[in-house]
Amino acid sequence: MFTDIVAKQQNFFYEGSTKSLSFRVKQLQKLKSIVKSSEKDILKALKQDLNRPPLESYASEVGFILSEISYTLKNIHNWMSPKKVKLPITYFGTKAFIVPEPLGLALIFGTWNYPFLLSLLPLAGAISSGNCAIVKPSEYAATSSNIIKKIINDNFDPAFITVAEGGVTESEALLAQKFDFIFFTGNPNIGKIVMSEAAKTLTPVALELGGKSPCIVHKDANIKLAAEKIAWAKFINAGQTCVAPDYLLVHNQIKEELIRHIKEYITKFYGKNPAESPDYCRIINEKHFDRLSAFLRSGNIIIGGQTNRDNLYIAPTVIDNVFSLESAIMEEEIFGPIIPIIPYEDIRRAVSIIRSKPKPLAAYIFCDDSNTENYILNRVSCGSVCINDIMLQTSTYALPFGGVGESGMGRYHGKASFDTFSNFKSILQAPKSFDIKLRYPPYKTSSLKIMKLFLR
Ligand code: NAD
Repeated sequence: MFTDIVAKQQNFFYEGSTKSLSFRVKQLQKLKSIVKSSEKDILKALKQDLNRPPLESYASEVGFILSEISYTLKNIHNWMSPKKVKLPITYFGTKAFIVPEPLGLALIFGTWNYPFLLSLLPLAGAISSGNCAIVKPSEYAATSSNIIKKIINDNFDPAFITVAEGGVTESEALLAQKFDFIFFTGNPNIGKIVMSEAAKTLTPVALELGGKSPCIVHKDANIKLAAEKIAWAKFINAGQTCVAPDYLLVHNQIKEELIRHIKEYITKFYGKNPAESPDYCRIINEKHFDRLSAFLRSGNIIIGGQTNRDNLYIAPTVIDNVFSLESAIMEEEIFGPIIPIIPYEDIRRAVSIIRSKPKPLAAYIFCDDSNTENYILNRVSCGSVCINDIMLQTSTYALPFGGVGESGMGRYHGKASFDTFSNFKSILQAPKSFDIKLRYPPYKTSSLKIMKLFLR
């Protein structure tokens, strides 16, 4: 299905067209100006697919992409330039460099919850590193996928970058082609399929996956502040954010107070009936709606719980007294506007719950004591941590973003995007005018003595 376009991109890449600084800069500037001029269409598509308000869509997608490209444009010259390496004395007269080179053809799978960001941000990384790329946005956010295809395919040479729309059939056909790198964003189960297909040709992958990101609220935390941030982070995009807090681990002493404030903030943000709020999003489709609705039977609903399948509405919901820590709501990633509260008395219990699950994408800590903070930091392995706030660690180009273990592999954002799509080639240049003969046979005892002097 995609044999022709892959062959075209291979030719384009091997001609070397994508490698120069000027080409990369021109393409990034073009991408930036297209995203800018398509802002209205992008915001409209996100309203249609997710009922997302324009401010959220601008901040989390359009503005995010623009500022990342601006940052890349400022730094790309430095990132691309060969880096001289200092060698030991035994290499006297020899020069060494590390030269970043593009990997070649990249296949990028985006997903639907932030469809522009998760397709175009990796694409900007692929361009900055000098690659060709095929982007496959998620079919679930259909209007956004159409716009992504239009803005890229109307403006770029398909032999350089192109968008292929479609679902499972198209994804499988793409995976059957040979790429030099696969960048996948989505759920861990599809991530496994992608990785096993890639393994057939030893193609490297970056997997940006999900998982159950915990949020600990300790007894000494600023409870009101924690409640405000939790209510914001969990319910924007109706909880369909890979780094949203998945479940709360709350100290017994402050549980009731936290719940009261979360309730207040939900009302403050979305009114008495969030179904009528212009700022509250909808679930992407019936499949996810039904999956989420089943979670509502996992414990006592203390806030929200209302649903409407006709318009894919699920109210901001808090669940207490989860019937079992082995139930689906505590085993699967929730990825929707439902948050269970698990109380603890001893911080060791909270940490052991986190450690009983696969390593999460993110972890959040609200606490005022550095000993408790360090106790958690030293024992919880995850992609990133944010202390006394939520999700801010993922929205800056200054910090690499990605998971660990089942939440993924590989990093991007800022310089990390450039690195992810590059091969760092080591180059050593020996002197022509002289050579140390020590290494050649026949070996002398004195040579071994000299060698031992240097190699110890
Ligand atoms: P998904 O993972 O099912 O879909 C992602 C893509 O995979 C789509 O483009 C789809 O067409 C494709 N696909 C589907 N079947 C395939 C197959 N058999 N072979 C190859 N490709 C196939 O989407 P989802 O599960 O609804 O997405 C939500 C998940 O994505 C959550 O786990 C979330 O945490 C994760 N996510 C992670 C990040 C991140 O940056 N780490 C960002 C957003 C979402």
